[in-house]
Amino acid sequence: MNDHRNDHRRLGRELGIFDTDPLIGSGLPCWLPAGAAVRKAIEDYVYELERRNGYQHVNSPVLGKRELYERSGHWAHYAEDMFPPMNVGGEEFVLRPSLCPHHALIYRSRGRSRRELPLRLAELGGMYRSELSGVLGGLTRVRAIQLNDGHVFCAPEQAAAEVSASLDLIEAAHAQLGIRAARYRLSLRGDGAKFVDDPAMWARSEAVLREVLKERGRDYDEERGEGAFYGPKIDIQITDPAGRESTLSTVQVDYFQPERFDLSYAGGERPVMVHRSVVGGIERLVAHLIEVHGGAFPAWLAPVQAVVLPLSDTEQPAAESVLRRCLAAGLRAELVAAGRGSLGARIRAHRLVPYQLVVGPREAAAGGVAVRRRDGSQAGDVPVEQLAAASRPLY
Ligand SMILES: [Zn+2]
Repeated sequence: MNDHRNDHRRLGRELGIFDTDPLIGSGLPCWLPAGAAVRKAIEDYVYELERRNGYQHVNSPVLGKRELYERSGHWAHYAEDMFPPMNVGGEEFVLRPSLCPHHALIYRSRGRSRRELPLRLAELGGMYRSELSGVLGGLTRVRAIQLNDGHVFCAPEQAAAEVSASLDLIEAAHAQLGIRAARYRLSLRGDGAKFVDDPAMWARSEAVLREVLKERGRDYDEERGEGAFYGPKIDIQITDPAGRESTLSTVQVDYFQPERFDLSYAGGERPVMVHRSVVGGIERLVAHLIEVHGGAFPAWLAPVQAVVLPLSDTEQPAAESVLRRCLAAGLRAELVAAGRGSLGARIRAHRLVPYQLVVGPREAAAGGVAVRRRDGSQAGDVPVEQLAAASRPLY
């Protein structure tokens, strides 16, 4: 068992990020208010990052007919990770193991011209994995995953540029989140029925990924048997405090699913699908962020960004007014009344909050605050609007 100080399971519970209940089932965590706030901040950030980079967002259902996954190839190559089908009125439905088939059908919903490409679709959506109870833990191995997914449908000659643009997004997001990649991995096919047997297709997609890695001057390791069943991947690996490695972000080149779904543009040309996830599954990402930051999230991610601390009950009305201004300015803020302990005790209890806004007699009279940052430094009377502006992510 991992008993590291920053183990996300221990800290996640202390910080009110998530919890699990055996009655819901293992691997099915609930997001508590602090965790839901962090998750929403990430979702908003990724949505905006994608929007600024030419993505259109879609929403699609978390299940589909068994035939959909027979067509996509999941049934033949990935069934052991899928939940068994549910029979409803003679039709079989499965919880989806990935979002790709839905996005392929959205692409196919009407004719596509060459001018429309690259068509970039993104969705933050649910996907499901039938992990066994024994391997589940905290947020790192779960059965219900909220995936930041995206698929770029492009002409073959656009694929390398789209892979490179996806890596740009990934690197920008990692910098904003305060994450450092452990290594880049080129994940290739292995032997056996897990992988589509079409050597020429694999060679073609591998060549695209190698070209991009070379052009970017990236060091990477090659690993056979780690590819998706339909194609090779660039995986961006992270490590937890115990040194265990996992994949966070990924970019994949796929010639297989466009074939299976008979996707086309300009009346008969076959597009390429670039699958990419900028920050991966939200569960694993938040587990990693808890461990990296030890709960002291960057201001834009912090569950509570500002805590208002009246010195005594006399300043309570002025503090309430500060709280209203914080909330109106877009800050996640709360007020901790004087009755909850001495000022020092309340500051210690909220030491992970980026901004502590103390309201004493002088501040109450002037309608201001004395801002204390969580590192203990004093910033004086900063308008709450300015604190809100400093608590937004950069794109
Ligand atoms: Zn995909």
